[in-house]
Amino acid sequence: MNIHEYQGKEILKKYGVTIQRGIVADTPDSAIQAAKELQAETGTKWFVVKSQIHAGGRGKGKVKETGSHGVVLAKSITEVPDKVKAILGGTLVTHQTGPEGKKVNKVLIAEDVYYPGESEPKEYYMSILLDRSKACPVIMASTEGGMNIEEVAETHPEKIIKEWIDPAIGLQAFQARKIAFALGWEGNAFKEGVKFIGSLYNAYLGLDASMFEINPVLKTSDNRILAVDAKVNLDDNALYRHKDLAELRDITEEDPLEVEAGKAGLNYVKLDGNVGCMVNGAGLAMATMDIIKLSGGEPANFLDVGGGANAETVEAGFRIILKDPNVKAILINIFGGIVRCDRVANGVVEAYKKIGDIHVPIIVRLQGTNAEEGAKIIEQSGLKVFSAIVLKDAAQRVKEVLA
Ligand code: GDP
Ligand code: MN
Repeated sequence: MNIHEYQGKEILKKYGVTIQRGIVADTPDSAIQAAKELQAETGTKWFVVKSQIHAGGRGKGKVKETGSHGVVLAKSITEVPDKVKAILGGTLVTHQTGPEGKKVNKVLIAEDVYYPGESEPKEYYMSILLDRSKACPVIMASTEGGMNIEEVAETHPEKIIKEWIDPAIGLQAFQARKIAFALGWEGNAFKEGVKFIGSLYNAYLGLDASMFEINPVLKTSDNRILAVDAKVNLDDNALYRHKDLAELRDITEEDPLEVEAGKAGLNYVKLDGNVGCMVNGAGLAMATMDIIKLSGGEPANFLDVGGGANAETVEAGFRIILKDPNVKAILINIFGGIVRCDRVANGVVEAYKKIGDIHVPIIVRLQGTNAEEGAKIIEQSGLKVFSAIVLKDAAQRVKEVLA
């Protein structure tokens, strides 16, 4: 699960990670209020207005309607409302949102931490994630912060420092010092940096996070270390242990069809193709998508209805697939193991009648326990459903209906 920058920063702060302070707002008026509070609290002269969407690249990204960037600087409180108006309610397009962009419902009003001083402020990169091949967390850091880290990895892989953490021992003090040293931090920055890395790792463990990405980590002109951005990814499978975190979910950021599928207990991922598919089992779903491609179609989705497919799950799956306007045909591919094919066939027929008004051809391939009874039920139903038992026939049908 993804959360917003403002939420991520609040949580990190609780773990002792030093952050760029900010207050979230959803109207120009509340943004002025936020700026005033922030000034009283931090003494900041300037303010950063930051779009809160579940995507990065906001600084370079632009709001479609106004041309404003997604992260902008206001050099006084009086500048705040206009800067906010140019962002709030607009559609922000960044290299991570795709051309359709994302609607901005909230902005974070943050203190300016790039103020001038003894030295230039400098941006760094830091992330923590699971290294699956080494089966342990890894902390990655780089002096090349603020920019696209994929590009750094491509052109200057030596500029990315990696420190693997033995989960049984945890992060050791020497490891945090090693990273801080490699980043060239000295004096107060070194001291704060070591603490920063330790707190960040504790937060990663404590939250059951799947990924943290802090880009940039800032060394301020007075040698302090701060998280200016916070991409926090939580492990969905651990959310039952964190009821308070589960509440941070913002479903307006998610694909509506995926949200609906989640409620029905279906594993659904929307794709760009024209053949909707409903399958039981993730492996079979992948194979079905391959078959669709081989027969000249493009899968419109991945949908695993799970082991216990029944009339209700089939109906919910149908409804979700049909809501996708790109769908030109539906392929249902169910292997009857625990679930019997005749039961699924009845489910398909029932769902078909209940939903009614289905304009796209449906190809049903039922294989396994009671496959022939299932095929018979489909054929005798009088509905415009094509039945196939052999996968090749199903693929041929897809080809025919798309032609
Ligand atoms: P992203 O573009 O979505 O990754 O958003 P970030 O939170 O990383 O911010 C983007 C950029 O905004 C940073 O790289 C900075 O250049 C700039 N920025 C962020 N905070 C401040 C600030 O306090 N003062 C100034 N002057 N610039 C800031
Ligand atoms: Mn960033």
